[in-house]
Amino acid sequence: MVVAYDRDNIFAKILRGDLPCTKRHETEWAMAFDDIAPKTPVHVLVVPKGEYVDFNDFTARATAEEQAGFWRAVKETAEICGVGEEGFRLTTNNGEVAGQIVFHFHVHIFGGRPLGRMVRASDG
Ligand code: 5GP
Repeated sequence: MVVAYDRDNIFAKILRGDLPCTKRHETEWAMAFDDIAPKTPVHVLVVPKGEYVDFNDFTARATAEEQAGFWRAVKETAEICGVGEEGFRLTTNNGEVAGQIVFHFHVHIFGGRPLGRMVRASDG
């Protein structure tokens, strides 16, 4: 299901400076900040500055320059947060079925401890 972009979503407010965050990195194309409810010692969210609902929307509409700038910022954020060398997991939830709750495209960086298997069969 396609959701319309809402300029009052939480990450849009963080990007505008209307809500506080613990910022880890910022470039022309993206901002990275700690997740408010971290699941791992390093749990950072990287969001593009442009208005995209999810991964599908970002890859369909963002320019090549925006997309390259975004992924470069993801890599730099992992390094800044100290997990670039030892390893980390990238996750993006695309749509409600995947558990997406904030409809501004973002990538989670998880790290700082062994993460185990990606998705367990027991998760259903
Ligand atoms: P999603 O399920 O959409 O991929 O993940 C959204 C993430 O945003 C969740 O991990 C949640 O903890 C995080 N989050 C929700 N509200 C806030 C907030 O106000 N500030 C920050 N930094 N993270 C938030």
